[in-house]
Amino acid sequence: NLLRPDGALGITIFEEITALAAAHGAINLGQGFPDEDGPPEILEAARAAIAAGANQYAPGRGVPELRAAVASHQERFYGLRPDPETGVLVTTGATEAIAAAVLAFAGPGDEVLTFEPFYDSYGAVIGLAGADHITAPLRAPDFQPDLEALEAAMSSRTRMLLLNNPHNPTGSVFTREALTRIIELAVRHDVLLVTDEVYEHLTFDGAHIPVASLPGAAERTLTISSAGKTFSVTGWKVGWLTGPEELVARVRTVKSFLTYSSGMPFQGAVALGLGLPDAFFTGIAETLRRKKDQLSSGLAAAGFRVHASQGTYFVIADCAPLGVVDATDLARRLPALVGVAAIPVPVFCHPEGAERTRSLLRFAFCKTSEILEDAAGRLASLQ
Ligand code: PMP
Ligand code: GLN
Repeated sequence: NLLRPDGALGITIFEEITALAAAHGAINLGQGFPDEDGPPEILEAARAAIAAGANQYAPGRGVPELRAAVASHQERFYGLRPDPETGVLVTTGATEAIAAAVLAFAGPGDEVLTFEPFYDSYGAVIGLAGADHITAPLRAPDFQPDLEALEAAMSSRTRMLLLNNPHNPTGSVFTREALTRIIELAVRHDVLLVTDEVYEHLTFDGAHIPVASLPGAAERTLTISSAGKTFSVTGWKVGWLTGPEELVARVRTVKSFLTYSSGMPFQGAVALGLGLPDAFFTGIAETLRRKKDQLSSGLAAAGFRVHASQGTYFVIADCAPLGVVDATDLARRLPALVGVAAIPVPVFCHPEGAERTRSLLRFAFCKTSEILEDAAGRLASLQ
């Protein structure tokens, strides 16, 4: 369903809402990108790399300095020790890592499981691979995985569970118990775990738990992350994937034919970022927690029912108390109506899940406090 039946090209929801926001001069709390730059030293490192001529193809696996930095970062924060030579692959954003992992392991006749709502590229790339996309719900109010539904969804055709934690769009962080049960199910059904942890440093109620760090998971887990969120450089599109050599090798083969290699001048700069002191990483989470609190209060004051966000850039607001049942319709009207843009949650779902999330909107809070205050003021006029 990437191409519409009428032959028109599909566009992502982020493009659609961002264009609407621009057309109406609205505050864009739709697409998740920060409006402030990340650490100056990494921006300077990228400028210096360009000036020094680091402008040709990077090695296919990524520059050695970045692979070593990814491995050290995982050891420092999680006690994991991926092999920098064979167990780390640099990708063009997490998006390419996700696509290459799905294409490497799933094809026609296979099923790929995700939770629902799911990040939009998951459904698209599972479709490109020709595999079937099966979902299990995350249920309001806390959006933890429905583990019974997950177990029921597993079959002899299930090849992979592609999961995202901390979770976009709901802002939930899966409990250690839920992750442990998910791993037990994956082991029992011999399912590969591909885990998208791009928001690993953006958690508000305690440290992130990588799937690969839990008992029984490492040998069947590919972990994906990205510089975009951690260092506020979403435009750099530098991501990485880590895991056991045999699994990473297959993904690398696919990556070779998708992009071959990724943005050379940014790789050393990201390596520098991954080596920043602990205070940087706790600082970004703390800054973002304040923004989350500010926007959540603003949305509540504007009459929305707000679901607690435990991580990511996002908070879910239910429009039902405002008398609105269709959040997708509201999202299309909101930029003109009050000058704020948000993303409707049903776009991250198949039809059944879309019905369950019909009145939910996703707001991004990775913006300056002045912008968040302005947005809250505009939203207050909805009542
Ligand atoms: N996965 C999730 C859950 C995301 O929210 C995003 C968007 N930031 C991505 C992957 C894509 O990351 P990147 O920009 O590094 O490709
Ligand atoms: N990951 C970001 C979001 O969920 C942006 C993704 C995109 O623009 N494709 O808003």
